[in-house]
Amino acid sequence: MRYSGFRVIREAVTGHKGWVPVWRDPEPQPSYDIVIVGGGGHGLATAHYLASRYGAARVAVIEKGWIGGGNVGRNTTIIRSNYMLDGNEPFYEMSLKLWEGLEQDLNYNAMVSQRGILNLCHSDGQRDAYRLRGNAMRLHGADAELLGPGEVRAMYPFLNFDDARFPIKGGLLQRRGGTVRHDAVAWGYARAADSRGVDIIQNCEVTGLRVEDGRVLGVDTSRGFIGAGKVGVAVAGNSSRVMAMAGLRLPIESHVLQAFVSEGLKPVLDGVITYGAGHFYVSQSDKGGLVFGGDIDGYNSYAQRGNLPTVEDVCEGGLSLMPMVGQARLLRMWGGIMDMSMDGSPIIDRTPVEGLYFNGGWCYGGFKATPASGLAFAHLLATDTPHETATAYRLDRFRNGRMIDEKGMGATPNLH
Ligand SMILES: Cc1cc2nc3c(=O)[nH]c(=O)nc-3n(C[C@H](O)[C@H](O)[C@H](O)COP(=O)(O)OP(=O)(O)OC[C@H]3O[C@@H](n4cnc5c(N)ncnc54)[C@H](O)[C@@H]3O)c2cc1C
Repeated sequence: MRYSGFRVIREAVTGHKGWVPVWRDPEPQPSYDIVIVGGGGHGLATAHYLASRYGAARVAVIEKGWIGGGNVGRNTTIIRSNYMLDGNEPFYEMSLKLWEGLEQDLNYNAMVSQRGILNLCHSDGQRDAYRLRGNAMRLHGADAELLGPGEVRAMYPFLNFDDARFPIKGGLLQRRGGTVRHDAVAWGYARAADSRGVDIIQNCEVTGLRVEDGRVLGVDTSRGFIGAGKVGVAVAGNSSRVMAMAGLRLPIESHVLQAFVSEGLKPVLDGVITYGAGHFYVSQSDKGGLVFGGDIDGYNSYAQRGNLPTVEDVCEGGLSLMPMVGQARLLRMWGGIMDMSMDGSPIIDRTPVEGLYFNGGWCYGGFKATPASGLAFAHLLATDTPHETATAYRLDRFRNGRMIDEKGMGATPNLH
């Protein structure tokens, strides 16, 4: 079924009886050409691009819970391509371009909103770093503007400009950045993939990767063995656990990241702001809630839930940037598991096991990467060669020293 304004009107006047389920609920087949483990944004996008751009048939996505139940439905919905390093910027700029055409490609309203993202700076050194980053972005064809304090004050007069400790000295603005309704991304990719014959199998946990003579044969699941010519793993926070099933150790640690929503407020914030002195980022949803987040928890964990010390820490950061949020009540918060890599950049690569491919290490920036990650992983699975924008995302870079350390933090995953 194609969605359109005409279809909405027709359904409205005929009692909404014509809508059909958005994707099927198939039984697993004994085998597929390609099995993708993980029905998050990245797994579903991979399936969509495999079917739509590479003509792959007999593809399945295996999800242990329900699609959209992982990080793709838990993030703060921010998209941007404001990276500096050569290994990253072309990839994230491709992703932003794919976001710009996503709704037409999927025939699905994902509420892509290019409302702009402003990274605030609070010292002369930070402003210099942003100038450098903005220039690098422009060299790669992305948009970037360096704003002075007066321009920032004109945009957001309610910020705490004259804070003696963290005065706002300006900001780096990317007008094409913004937000996308996160769960609609999962639903849109699922619908598009399903319509091209991809089997999306929910409530099916992969419990083992069956490997014989160095080659993957398929996956053991809670619903039996499923054979596969190729297996692509895209399980985000569970990367280390799933890849350990094939005996592989990853340069990844898992940490919890939390997100928060305030009660609904009248429109006050029409873009995305990130605080350069504390770890705090905020936007306002179409329902009126302020959607915000901060740093990851300071220890490794697979617990998919929030905790009070981080609530306090993030709210303190928010108050020091926007004192007026002290008036708003916090409505809810939740947590997701982040696959933090040692250099803060992702991995999209083959593995030493023949037929087994890995996509992960997204840290807390993988939502914006969803379309490019799906396309690059589909390319790798279909052609056995890395996509031209993802040539740096190799597993062996941690052995040969070719790090893509955007923040310059070194091998300290909780600081990326
Ligand atoms: C609070 C929070 C805020 C964030 N904010 C942003 C942001 O503003 N911008 C941004 O770019 N990124 C953000 N991120 C990061 C982003 O959400 C993730 O990097 C990205 O969603 C990860 O990829 P995914 O969508 O495929 O992951 P997921 O949706 O987590 O998909 C992985 C799937 O694998 C499944 N799975 C795991 N193990 C198995 C198994 N054994 N068998 C079968 N299935 C399995 C899981 O159930 C899950 O559904 C945020 C994340 C969180 C938690």
